[in-house]
Amino acid sequence: MEGIIMKLRKHLAILIGILIFSLGCAPTQKIAQKKSTGEIIAQKVVPSQLKIYPDKSTGKRYDQYSAIVLIGKIATMDEDENREIQVIDNGKVIIVGEKIDTILLDGQKFPPDLDSTGAIFLNTHGIIFPGLVNAHDHVHYNLIGIWDAPKKYTNRYQWPQNKGMRVDVKYAKYVAQDKKYFGIQAEAMKYAEVKQLISGTTAVQGAPNGAKKFCNILVRNMDVSPNFGFKRMSPYVRDVTKVKDDKIQRWLDKMNEGKLDALFFHIAEGTDDVARNEFDFLVEHGLGRKETIIIHGTALDEEQIRYMSDHDMSVIWSPVSNLLLYGETADIPTYYEDGVNICLGTDWSPSGGKNLLDELKIAYEYNKTNFGGILSYEDMAKFVTCNPADAIGWKDYCGRIKSGLYADIMVISDNKTNPFEALVDATERDVELVFIGGDPLYGDSIFMAKLKPGDFEYIKTPCGFTKCLDFTKNDVQLGNQTFEYVVSILQKALSFDPDYMEQKFHDKRIQNYDSFDDYLDAKFSGYHPVQLDPIYACMDTYFFDALRNSKNANLSFDIQKIYYSWVPDSVLKK
Ligand SMILES: [Zn+2]
Repeated sequence: MEGIIMKLRKHLAILIGILIFSLGCAPTQKIAQKKSTGEIIAQKVVPSQLKIYPDKSTGKRYDQYSAIVLIGKIATMDEDENREIQVIDNGKVIIVGEKIDTILLDGQKFPPDLDSTGAIFLNTHGIIFPGLVNAHDHVHYNLIGIWDAPKKYTNRYQWPQNKGMRVDVKYAKYVAQDKKYFGIQAEAMKYAEVKQLISGTTAVQGAPNGAKKFCNILVRNMDVSPNFGFKRMSPYVRDVTKVKDDKIQRWLDKMNEGKLDALFFHIAEGTDDVARNEFDFLVEHGLGRKETIIIHGTALDEEQIRYMSDHDMSVIWSPVSNLLLYGETADIPTYYEDGVNICLGTDWSPSGGKNLLDELKIAYEYNKTNFGGILSYEDMAKFVTCNPADAIGWKDYCGRIKSGLYADIMVISDNKTNPFEALVDATERDVELVFIGGDPLYGDSIFMAKLKPGDFEYIKTPCGFTKCLDFTKNDVQLGNQTFEYVVSILQKALSFDPDYMEQKFHDKRIQNYDSFDDYLDAKFSGYHPVQLDPIYACMDTYFFDALRNSKNANLSFDIQKIYYSWVPDSVLKK
């Protein structure tokens, strides 16, 4: 009897798998995501609504031009002697190779030592910003959308114990990426990096160590692989109070020798004393110093924040994640008034913004409703550009538009407000171009077709815009995979189809079980198909519903209504 039930269950699972997969192939279908609590909490749009197809043209590539000249309004994020951020109307940014060579003011002549006849001029009619720096994330989890936290937690050691978190989030991450299972970590990481890139983000913190070998295709992974020829950063995510003295001494020695510019501590996340005391542990062990960067710091009191200010420390603020898990976020007004260097990070997609453009919007609106509007649009822009660059020792490399820095650049459309307001207002539709180290990787076809014809894929969204992505890089491992292929293989992995899993899993422990079903039940009890998180917020009803419906966050504003009113009704129900 048990055998029959097992067989029936297996057939049912296959049927569900086939159904899910075929729905995934139908461009207009929606799938209800069933949460482990048993209730259907939202309709989630499948990423296959994206139409992805290759650019077939061929021609001169960007690296064959002597220079690329971007014309537009330049938000340099660089302060003048009066400590005002310089904004240059109708300026030109001249990119030569990997770097920003020259910045021309309106009317200034092309430098005589550069060949203007071999240059490509792009009139962006937009605002040229430095590429955004996402100071905190757990990139490898970003295949998965927002997890519906069932209650308010008070520190970060509590929610990982929740069964729903395991089933809805962790299974998907392990099944896709772990070598024992599908082992497609490179694909998962590249997909997650595209989610950053489409928001103009050019560097992100928090990739897993094992991702080193495929870190050089899309965005910069700041703390696992070298950038600009060096790596002087380290993350520490586990319980800091358990770190041994000799390890702490090694960190301190490295800092004193100038070999460690930034040490990220994932601490004081939550609202209780367990969280708060982690900071005191750092201070007691000599780590209250400028190289120490506090990720979260939500539990810190005024005295601790004052200590951070006195010791030139930086904090990374992830408001969305804090609010969804704990119902509260960091005391940003106190950090701000004390002059602590504040940076913004998305934390991870299961409880954070999909990208920094989302995080900026929620941070800004929350500031208006809960902090008395203490933060300006300009402050918000600093949190994602110059502030993180300064915090991590990259001041001379990126985070500003300045001659001699690397050409990590984003261009957004100009909505004719002040440029910083335009950045907070910008949605994925407004991201016109993204360069990393002078290489145009993403943007509107009007520019990409000129810059690197034949070397990108088109991504057509149902939101009414099409963008171009150069996903491939032939000289690195797995660099020839297309985005279309990666999306399809990830969707297949997350469909949790038992037959496909049986065919592809490498786990030696399978042989210890009577059947593959028994093995699945033992290792992935309660598993169900998980949707690959769509890269664009504009097509993700589930994302907006999750923010709107979170009892923990209890937001008094709706970012869909404020920022996404342009999305056609057929894509997002209002
Ligand atoms: Zn985190």
